[in-house]
Amino acid sequence: MNLAGRSAIITGGSRGIGRAIALKLASLGADIALIYQGSREKAEATAGEIMDLGVKAIAYRCDVASFAETKETVSAIRNDFAEIEVLVNNAGITRDGLVAMMDEESWDSVMDTNLKGAFCMIRHTVPLMLRRRSGRIISISSVSGLMGNPGQANYSASKAGIIGLTKACAKELAGRGITCNAIAPGFIRTDMTKDMETADLVKAIPLGRMGTPEDVAEAAAFLALSPYITGETIRVDGGISM
Ligand code: NAP
Repeated sequence: MNLAGRSAIITGGSRGIGRAIALKLASLGADIALIYQGSREKAEATAGEIMDLGVKAIAYRCDVASFAETKETVSAIRNDFAEIEVLVNNAGITRDGLVAMMDEESWDSVMDTNLKGAFCMIRHTVPLMLRRRSGRIISISSVSGLMGNPGQANYSASKAGIIGLTKACAKELAGRGITCNAIAPGFIRTDMTKDMETADLVKAIPLGRMGTPEDVAEAAAFLALSPYITGETIRVDGGISM
C-alpha cells in the first residue's frame, strides 16, 4: 500500500519531526504541502529534498495560530494540489516555566500554536475531506500531555488538549471515512530538545536512547495508511511513559 496520487499537509514541516514525516510520506508517494512560520530557507530545502523523491512539494508560510491565515493557506493548497488525503498537525512550541511564575504570554502562545493551531487546520481541511468521504488526520501530542511534566503546565495542557480534540473529531468524522489519531512522542532529538539530553535522561528511557524524528515518522506513516484505527494515541517514547 502507498500514498501515490494523494496529497498531505504537514504543519511545521521545515525541520525536526515535521520534516521527517514529510520525507517519509513523500517516500510513500504523497505530494507534500509544507507549512512553516519563520524558517523559509529550511522549508524550501526540505521541499527540494522531497521533490528529489519524484513527488510535488510546496512550502507555505503561515502562522497556524491564525484562523484567517490558515483559511487562506488551505485555500491556496487546495488550488495547488490534488485532493487532500492527509493532514499532520505537527507545528508546536514550548515556553517552559513554573506555573507559579508563568506569564500570560507564555500560556497563550503555547495554547494558540499547539492547540488552536490544530483546530484551525482541522477546521479548514475537514470540509475538503468530507466531500470525498475520506481522510487521515494525525496530530502530534506528547507524553507531557499524557503524564504532565513539571515546568510545562502550558505545554502539557495543550498536548492533553490535542488528545481530547482527536477523540471528539474521531467520533464526529468516523461516519464519513475520516480517521483522527494522535502520536505522543517522548524525548526526540530536535531543536526543541537540543539542551535537554543528559546521561540521566537517557538512562530513564527503557530503550536506552533519545528518539529520532524518523522514529516518529514511522508511526505517522502507519497511521496515514491505516483505515481501521481512529481516536487512538500512539506513544513513540522508547518506553519512558510506561
Ligand atoms: P522543532 O524542531 O522546534 O520544529 C517546530 C516546527 O513547528 C518548525 O517547523 C516551526 O516552523 C513550526 N512552527 C512553530 N510555530 C509555528 C506556527 N505558529 N505556525 C507554523 N509553524 C510553526 O520541534 P520538533 O521537536 O520537531 O516538534 C514537532 C512537534 O512534536 C511539536 O508539536 C512538539 O511539541 C512535538 N513533540 C516534540 C518532542 C521532542 O522531543 N522533540 C516530544 C514530544 C512532542 P519554523 O521552522 O518556520 O519556525
